[in-house]
Amino acid sequence: MSDQEELKQHFAQRVIHQAREVLEVWQQLQRGEWNDNYRNALADATLRLRRFAERFGQTEHSELALGIEDCLGDIEDNRGRLSSTSIATLSQLVYRLARTGLRHSDTQSQAVYVPPLSKPVYIALQDHQRAEHVVRQLEFFSMTAQAFASDAAFRAAMHERHPAAIVMDVDFNGPGEGLKLAERIQQSLDEKLPLIFFSHADTDTPTRLAAVRAGGLEFFTGSLDASSLLEKIEIFTRTAHYEPFRVLIVDDSRAQATHTERVLNNAGIITQTLIEPIQTIAALAEFQPDLIILDMYMPVCMGTELAKVIRQHERYVSVPIIYLSAEDDLDKQLDAMNEGGDDFLTKPIKPSHLIATVRTRAARARSLKARIVRDSLTGLYNHTHSLQLLEDASFRARRDGQPLSFAMIDIDHFKKVNDTYGHPMGDRVIKSLALFLKQRLRKTDHIGRYGGEEFAVVLPDTRAEDACKVLDEIRRRFAEIRYPAKQEDLTCTFSCGITELTADSDIKLLTQQADEALYRAKHGGRNRVERFQPVT
Ligand code: GH3
Ligand code: MG
Ligand code: MG
Repeated sequence: MSDQEELKQHFAQRVIHQAREVLEVWQQLQRGEWNDNYRNALADATLRLRRFAERFGQTEHSELALGIEDCLGDIEDNRGRLSSTSIATLSQLVYRLARTGLRHSDTQSQAVYVPPLSKPVYIALQDHQRAEHVVRQLEFFSMTAQAFASDAAFRAAMHERHPAAIVMDVDFNGPGEGLKLAERIQQSLDEKLPLIFFSHADTDTPTRLAAVRAGGLEFFTGSLDASSLLEKIEIFTRTAHYEPFRVLIVDDSRAQATHTERVLNNAGIITQTLIEPIQTIAALAEFQPDLIILDMYMPVCMGTELAKVIRQHERYVSVPIIYLSAEDDLDKQLDAMNEGGDDFLTKPIKPSHLIATVRTRAARARSLKARIVRDSLTGLYNHTHSLQLLEDASFRARRDGQPLSFAMIDIDHFKKVNDTYGHPMGDRVIKSLALFLKQRLRKTDHIGRYGGEEFAVVLPDTRAEDACKVLDEIRRRFAEIRYPAKQEDLTCTFSCGITELTADSDIKLLTQQADEALYRAKHGGRNRVERFQPVT
């Protein structure tokens, strides 16, 4: 690398650091409240990001930074107050920033995207060829990794840059030497790095104990496959996306509602207010709140009555409900709690009390919900929830006049995988496809495990032809993944059927059409994507 190249790389790296700083400042709002200090910190970090990005030709970063600056300007115009719109816009911009790669404006090669906030993974194996192989496999999952042939090369890299995680063979550079090397490195670090050990042979308890003492979080033996590795690395290095809480407020008093909104918005919480309790159920489907605040006394109905109606809907049995009232009679409060409420706050409420209550309740409800609607093997949405998401997304698409595509995926000859390689290997493949889909689809797409080895994907704002392109690319890349096995490495393919929402389709029709297209893909020879063709 020429000096100039190196300098350019160095500065490009600064863009990434700056982007991360913006992300970190924004995430602090999760715990604190919006104020001038906070605003200034965000504005400063964003300005620095934009300067670096402009200087080093990272247009996407500079556009996002400009977007954040615009949004901060709007907040100023709103007398320095955060609104639901600005919270949503900011969190969207910051999220995109976290996902934006560096573009090397290299003249010879075409533009390459380097995944942004994920540093490379360092892989030090006794068998260097195997390490190189794992590196190539990780690339399929858009994760960068680097393999090392010697102790010296590894140390040099560590000196230059800390990785996202280290995968260390206990016998790297000689029997037991890898273990010692990793231990020394961890000891020298202020902040420990995620460390994964590997041993080609089965190991004894003393070795495993030593690995734990050296700070190893995981121990792999036998073969090292990229998807299990990636799964662990994902868990250890996850930078959780800060998704603002959403609160629905039902209150017949506009003044009271506005006050509640202000307090919550200031804490980075998105709100929607209903003055008419009758609209509640429609608003729930549309707004998908994490929590509901109900006024106790409204002219049309009591808060407790409304809570009962909400609870009659299977989908909303677990959304926390907080009553808001001037009522300070303890008996009445207890009665209200029996009617499907979770908490009772008395007016006037202290802002900090309201914020703390909403945050704890909403966070707990989210983690509970994640367990109910997700499949335990893959972490994807389960069958029932996938269909609910399809229904909600169809409703929105129709209302906004936007397209929507629905895809069904089924792994090819999966029975043979189980029969030949065993059930655990089958599970491995299912997990790896789940991960692959998560990494390659957009955040706005919903991915579900529809059945055993079947997946369903809802793609909002997407025409069927574009969905076909995206899924065909995923299909092509997935087929290249090799799972190491005893006799011969395993590769797998899938077939996919896609359909697009029309004026008269409901979810039953959509699933039927996608299924039909999938059937054609299977009969056309598998390992292909087919689009639903209406008979004319
Ligand atoms: P086709 O190409 O036609 O889809 O062939 P196939 O063998 O994949 O089709 P089929 O649907 O008949 O078989 C699916 C198999 O997947 C049957 C079942 O044993 C297996 N399977 C379902 N769920 C799981 C799971 O969670 N783990 C594992 N390992 N296997 C599963
Ligand atoms: Mg099947
Ligand atoms: Mg199958």
